[in-house]
Amino acid sequence: MGNECRADPVINSRLDRFETVWNEALKETFSSQRRSPAVHCQATVGSSLLAMTTIHRRPPQVRLAKKPAIFPSPEWTLTDETLSEIAKFRAAVFAKDFDRVKAILNSLTSSFTNEYQVDDLCSKICDRSSAEPLKEALLTVICIGSRPLVEYILVLFHEFPDEECSGCYDSRAFMPHLTPLVMACICNNYSIVECLLLRGHDIDLPHRIDCRCLQCFYVPNTVANNQQLLDIYKALSSEAFLWLATSDPFLSMIELSDDLRLCADAMPAYKVAFNALHQSVQSFGVALIQQCWSMEEVDVLLRQPDGAYLAESQNHYPRIRLALDGQMRKFLSHMNVQVSVENIWHGGWTDYGCSFVRDVYRMLRHTVFYPILAFLHAISAGKLVQSFNNPIARFISFLTSYLTFLATLIAIRYVQVYYEKSYDRDKMENKAYFALEMYVFLYIAGMILWQFMEFARRGIHKYFDMWWRYFDFSIMTFFIFSTTSFGCACAVVKNDGIKQLHRRHWLWYDPIILFDVFFASGCVMAFWRIFYFVQLWRYLGSAIISIGKCVERAFNFFIIMFLVMWAFAAGANTIMENYTGLKETVQYGRVHEQGEMFSGLIITFRNLYWAYYGYLHPLDYTLAVGDAGPALTNTNHIFTHMSLEITLALYHLVVIVCLLKLSIAFLVLSTEEVLKNEDVEWKYSRIYIYYEYIEHSCSVPPPFNILHMITSFVYRLFSGEYVLMWPDLLVKAKMIDESETRRIETHAYRDLQMQLFKRYQAMKVYRYQTIQKMDTEATSAEHPA
Ligand SMILES: [Zn+2]
Repeated sequence: MGNECRADPVINSRLDRFETVWNEALKETFSSQRRSPAVHCQATVGSSLLAMTTIHRRPPQVRLAKKPAIFPSPEWTLTDETLSEIAKFRAAVFAKDFDRVKAILNSLTSSFTNEYQVDDLCSKICDRSSAEPLKEALLTVICIGSRPLVEYILVLFHEFPDEECSGCYDSRAFMPHLTPLVMACICNNYSIVECLLLRGHDIDLPHRIDCRCLQCFYVPNTVANNQQLLDIYKALSSEAFLWLATSDPFLSMIELSDDLRLCADAMPAYKVAFNALHQSVQSFGVALIQQCWSMEEVDVLLRQPDGAYLAESQNHYPRIRLALDGQMRKFLSHMNVQVSVENIWHGGWTDYGCSFVRDVYRMLRHTVFYPILAFLHAISAGKLVQSFNNPIARFISFLTSYLTFLATLIAIRYVQVYYEKSYDRDKMENKAYFALEMYVFLYIAGMILWQFMEFARRGIHKYFDMWWRYFDFSIMTFFIFSTTSFGCACAVVKNDGIKQLHRRHWLWYDPIILFDVFFASGCVMAFWRIFYFVQLWRYLGSAIISIGKCVERAFNFFIIMFLVMWAFAAGANTIMENYTGLKETVQYGRVHEQGEMFSGLIITFRNLYWAYYGYLHPLDYTLAVGDAGPALTNTNHIFTHMSLEITLALYHLVVIVCLLKLSIAFLVLSTEEVLKNEDVEWKYSRIYIYYEYIEHSCSVPPPFNILHMITSFVYRLFSGEYVLMWPDLLVKAKMIDESETRRIETHAYRDLQMQLFKRYQAMKVYRYQTIQKMDTEATSAEHPA
């Protein structure tokens, strides 16, 4: 049929005319594209992950996925020759000239796997009845990964201008949410993604999983919707999308990482898939920071305030704060980040270790004399004793003040020794004891203020990211209760005037008894918290973090154990409860009484718990029923006896033989896994701790921080350098106005992004290994994407 058309002279001349007209039209389209500012790497299509719309359709359940090379060859270039080739291709399609279309397709790429694939594609391209076959053809060539093929087929959409960007509604291979751009991003094909972005394609960003809008409320949770969400996130996490479609790849990466973590938590069935995406986004961050070749570049990258809270954009590196909130462990443990944060950490003390005398002097200032200097710094709202502005100096002072706090807790145990404690009710009588107690409460008040600031800034979820927060929280809770009980005890004595009374006359909930218990619990937690400071030293720190991770996992095991024990306790109690206290006469007139071991549910549970450590003797299960009959012989309830014995034997088998041994095997396995990530985890915790001391609220240790907080608030209020804004309250006026320096910084950042992209591209082409790259690859191997 195609050959017949070619032979007709009228059609031939028509085709020629058509060709020239099309040549002009195509030239215009392509040149206008090339003129657009988005022609390089930074096309801003989905520039922010904030504005979002979504479509929910019911697609068929077949998917096609194929991953081509990142930079496909032959590289696509647009010449007059290409334009006339495209025009010829178009003419051949219109003329349904199968052989010619097939020849052109074959000349464009060698990626076709078989003849059938080409035939199928040809028939779809030449079917001009609707846009559907053409759309399917477009998605197919995107999967094949050939940029020239994609460009040729896109030209055919001229008759269906609105259909080019949407997915197929009626296809056996592609679900409806797979639009050409989503497909190209999933395949991570830079060249095709660029081509589609230039033609104005975009991705409808999904609502966040925790969105509570009406639209999300009425959308049913179906397989198709979940699959759609996963595919869209897969497209958004692709390197091609992040590099080419966002105006700030770094910020988008952090926001995306946050979203992915939320999804992983909210959709347990897809947890593995979302975690894998989270890992690949993190690898992108590592690849990005790795392309910075000097400290100046790292500085420009991390100093950008966009995306951070206004109050936090005053800090050195707001981007690090964002990455910490997004838990980007791999990114934060990269050498470039570690080195630049370490520089801020040392502040003005970068010459540490050069002069022994100066080091000793600095140490003395922040250990022995810290109370005086911290007081001066606090009372002057940070104007005096400027060395408190170095985070490392702050850390040393905090450590010293914490050790002082622990020393006070120990001292309290010694000052009380000589008193008649079983009688003593007056807590205020011993002045030294009272003073120490007051210092402890004052320290805790400072600590509460310090932690409250952190809590207000981070929010409940991010506050509890690290293990020591749980300790802080419990220390504060116990000490708040003990302070309250202490106050009550003092008030009661003041009221009734009885300073001496033996404990046997006290109620079980006497304030002093409550105080002792809460104070004791607080002390236990307070001593444990010293590990927080020790973490910064590499060897001990790694061990502490690893043990912490293992305990976290072991906790699940304890829950299982508890439930199993509870089940057996309920069984044993049901069988034995009604025999409690029964007596029978055994040999030589001795009486055997059924004990209280299984008399109640709680007591049975308690006995079974201690049985775990071996405290259950077989003699304990003997059953006493009573004496009956004319000869008063022992009644033997053999069924009950056997049931009890079997229940307890099973208990031992399940809890001690299976669960105990399993828990050991499980702990060994998780220790191995934790130790594998030990390096990344330690570096991440280190940066987390460093950043706590970079915040303004950590200038001086508790309890001096209460004073510092008040003076600096008054100073900010009256200095005129700060403006009142909700919700950040007092913000430096300099931060708000869009000054010239800020404009230059933004320019520098944009230039840097271009530079990084070019280097990244070059790295993909010329692969060679430096220490940094080896490091990155080793990390990626540990967390496969
Ligand atoms: Zn919504």
